[in-house]
Amino acid sequence: MKNVGRVADGIDLVDVRHLGNPHVIAAAVLDTGAGLAIVDPGPESSLANLLAALEASGRSLSDVRHLLLTHIHLDHAGATGAMVRRHPDLVVQVHERGAPHLADPTKLLASAERLYGADLQRLWGECVPVPAANLRPLRGGERLALGQVGLQVAYTPGHASHHVSYLHASTGTAFVGDTAGIRITGRDYLFPPTPPPDIDLELWRASLDRLAEWKADRLFLTHFGPAATVEPHLAEMRERLVEWSDRVRASLSEPGDDASRAAEFVRRVGEEVRRHLPADEALRFEQGAGLKFCWYGLARYWRKRLPP
Ligand SMILES: [Zn+2]
Repeated sequence: MKNVGRVADGIDLVDVRHLGNPHVIAAAVLDTGAGLAIVDPGPESSLANLLAALEASGRSLSDVRHLLLTHIHLDHAGATGAMVRRHPDLVVQVHERGAPHLADPTKLLASAERLYGADLQRLWGECVPVPAANLRPLRGGERLALGQVGLQVAYTPGHASHHVSYLHASTGTAFVGDTAGIRITGRDYLFPPTPPPDIDLELWRASLDRLAEWKADRLFLTHFGPAATVEPHLAEMRERLVEWSDRVRASLSEPGDDASRAAEFVRRVGEEVRRHLPADEALRFEQGAGLKFCWYGLARYWRKRLPP
């Protein structure tokens, strides 16, 4: 199984094979001409796979100069602290609202534990604090020059309040984390990851507008891989967000409790997923994507806004 693929000139995709599975989490490795930069290295539980993939292509952790984080969720950034511990010169770019939670991950871990419970360690591995001196907080609007590579930074909240995206100027590749949803390259099912606690649909729509303004040639999705039809992809993402949030809003006034409403949501989305994806992929998608959490994230969004 080949875990490294070329996305564009100077950009490789590494499939970090989360829990041994392909097509779950993609890290991007950028050759800056003066060392490497990695966008979203993934969780600590798959760090060995990321490093093995680097080594298989003749590179190593000591060649990496920068980590560019879209946000601090463990599936994107969990390996950050462990990487800095092994390579103390690493510079970590992250939104200013996320930076304090990398330096002291207590709250981040408490939030993740509410979702994953006893499975936290098995899924994401060890979460090591990042020394504040390694952190370079971003606000959005920056233009980074890393070696010969120019990157624009945009603040793209909605999925998370501290989410940023990066545009690799010379290739028109936009690293969008979770902002443009989850879709395995080549498959047609797109869905919005909407876990608690930050989901904000208005901010999310504005972030999709901001991504559209970049007129990128491709989006790079952490889950999973490049999407080359940018406009239709963003349009579908807008539609799917409305569809899902309407569905969750309607479910709030249905009989039963949250557990049964979430279960019904998972059942219906699961049916759609199985119509669009091969059986083994559909199963991984349903498990890995945490569809249940998507209901809870949208329910929380509505309950903050609707009259009781
Ligand atoms: Zn994610």
